[in-house]
Amino acid sequence: MTAGPFTLVSFHAHPDDEVLLTGGTLARAAAEGHRVVLVTATDGGAGLAGPVAPGSGAMLTLGARRIAELRASAAALGCARVELLGYADSGSEAEGPDSAVPDGAFSRADVDGAAQRLAAILLDERADALTIYDPAGGYGHPDHVQVHRVGRRAAEIAGTRLVLEATADRRWLARAGAVLRRFSAVRALGRGAATGQSVLATAYTASGDLTHRVDVRAYTGAKRAAMQAHASQADGGDGARTLALLLRLPRPVFRRVLGREWFVEPGRPSASAGAALEDDIFASLR
Ligand SMILES: [Zn+2]
Repeated sequence: MTAGPFTLVSFHAHPDDEVLLTGGTLARAAAEGHRVVLVTATDGGAGLAGPVAPGSGAMLTLGARRIAELRASAAALGCARVELLGYADSGSEAEGPDSAVPDGAFSRADVDGAAQRLAAILLDERADALTIYDPAGGYGHPDHVQVHRVGRRAAEIAGTRLVLEATADRRWLARAGAVLRRFSAVRALGRGAATGQSVLATAYTASGDLTHRVDVRAYTGAKRAAMQAHASQADGGDGARTLALLLRLPRPVFRRVLGREWFVEPGRPSASAGAALEDDIFASLR
């Protein structure tokens, strides 16, 4: 048992995944003096992109552009180190029956081989804690499910003491969806996935299964800056992009909607077992 400071490794599938579920937590941990390391499995090269601005960005592939955005986002959150595992993005259509998942896609990578690579970083950093995703990868994207599998195995290999599954409170998701629909600027954009009720019924985590609710209201400025760094994801696509929706919220509403983040720590009593939700992600290490 120790008071820290601790080293936290946060493992994600694509550039921009680090922001919504964990950005405030990473910014808070860094601001409180802990070492924060971001590891991203893919370059997000299969994601949707907005128009490339004339001039500097025009020659970049989407993957290269997203890696540059990832580094800017990580800097805004206070991350000390960013590592990319270099797998291919499985793509946003990867869930469908006719999916064409590219060669080298993270979702099809050998779990043990990928875990060895993440474990090498965990050992190099002497990481105290690792964040991954819940077993369903939140909403089921195969690269996110793979983050869960690879992350768990890597923590076993490296002997990482604390593993936290980044998720969201399903009850909060429904409420946030209602808030988003109240804003006309958002409503005009949001005809789809970001607020879809059928998705919300089963995605992420039921309130009673959570172990942590982290207050990150003081870090929503950093979270907003990190979201803005992912410009290719905020101005692109069919207008239903989550980042674009959220960046249109007035700041006080943004702070209210994005001021909390949730985790499940396997083995720790959850809310339905009568435990109070923990605000400190390092509580089990202290
Ligand atoms: Zn993702």
